[in-house]
Amino acid sequence: MLPKGSDWKSRKSKKKYELEKEQIERIYELEKEQVERKYELEKEKVKRKYNRLKNERIERKYKLEKERVEKNYELEKEQAESTYELEKLQVERKYELIEKKFGRLKIERIKKMYELEKEQIIEIVRNLVHNKSYIVYGYWYCHQWKCEHKKPLQCISREKCEYRDKLDDLQLLYSGKCKHKSQCQSVMECRNKFKRKWQTENNCKLEWRKRYDQELLKKSLEVISERRTGWLEFFQTCENNHENLISSFLLYTSENSNKPDLEIIRHLVWNHYYRVFGNWKCSRCQKKWRSAYTWISLQKFITKATGKQCIKGDYVMQKCKERTCGNDGIISSYKPLVRSESGEHKRHLCEKCKRGYECFESGTYFGYQYI
Ligand SMILES: [Zn+2]
Ligand SMILES: [Zn+2]
Ligand SMILES: [Zn+2]
Ligand SMILES: [Zn+2]
Ligand SMILES: [Zn+2]
Repeated sequence: MLPKGSDWKSRKSKKKYELEKEQIERIYELEKEQVERKYELEKEKVKRKYNRLKNERIERKYKLEKERVEKNYELEKEQAESTYELEKLQVERKYELIEKKFGRLKIERIKKMYELEKEQIIEIVRNLVHNKSYIVYGYWYCHQWKCEHKKPLQCISREKCEYRDKLDDLQLLYSGKCKHKSQCQSVMECRNKFKRKWQTENNCKLEWRKRYDQELLKKSLEVISERRTGWLEFFQTCENNHENLISSFLLYTSENSNKPDLEIIRHLVWNHYYRVFGNWKCSRCQKKWRSAYTWISLQKFITKATGKQCIKGDYVMQKCKERTCGNDGIISSYKPLVRSESGEHKRHLCEKCKRGYECFESGTYFGYQYI
């Protein structure tokens, strides 16, 4: 048995022990917290270091890869260029032969075309100068050549660009075959089809307008009729520095409308006529026919005269298509020309061509509605 005093003592030391234990535990918690915080900080530091190293490694790898790709690209470019040069030479030789045949005629044709274009503009402006119902804008659509070949193999000249696409067509042409749906009757026809399609796909396509008020129309008409070079005012340069003759005149009924009420396409003008799509009937028998080569008075077109309001003299006569009849035709209705699918000009149907004139078309532009 323990004495009373020792029992008290033992209780006292027990209390002390409890206190100390508590203190130690508190210190332990504190230290634990500190260590944990330190551990977290250390972890962050290591993580940052790891990331930095990782980025450096990726950067190095990326640089190497880039160098490799660039070297490959140079090699491939060189290869493609030498193939292109070879092909070009082959086509050039063939093309020279064709040029020898048709080249000399070209200069005369160009001169004739300039005269015709000048007359077309004069005719349109003459009809617009006294108009009071329309707001008039000149409209330019750039159909000049622009290379659509993939970079870096872009062509430096139109001829070169065309040669590249011409290779296959030329081979077909020389072997006497034709890849067009309606088999071409002549080499010329086939060549023109290719040219037209190629032109529509490889042009600049920039467009812009210029307002022509009555004052400006009057001044322009004076200049173009009196000065030899007066029509050059209707040439404008696009942002890619291509020269273009005016494509059409857009006529609006209000300044705010975004669609023109009427469009006069320059290359569809012939003397005082304008080419439209007409519905015809015979003045004697029941025969009816339609013609995309209908020429009506430009003035009637601008004033939106109906087909019935067009009398003899307002249009270029077409005779009844019924062979045994052959009487004069009458226009029952007409509408602006729509672009034909083949895009080729059928000279045997065109009254203008049949009368010995030549239709020079810009070929690619058939109205605001198609852009
Ligand atoms: Zn090209
Ligand atoms: Zn063909
Ligand atoms: Zn252009
Ligand atoms: Zn008839
Ligand atoms: Zn024609």
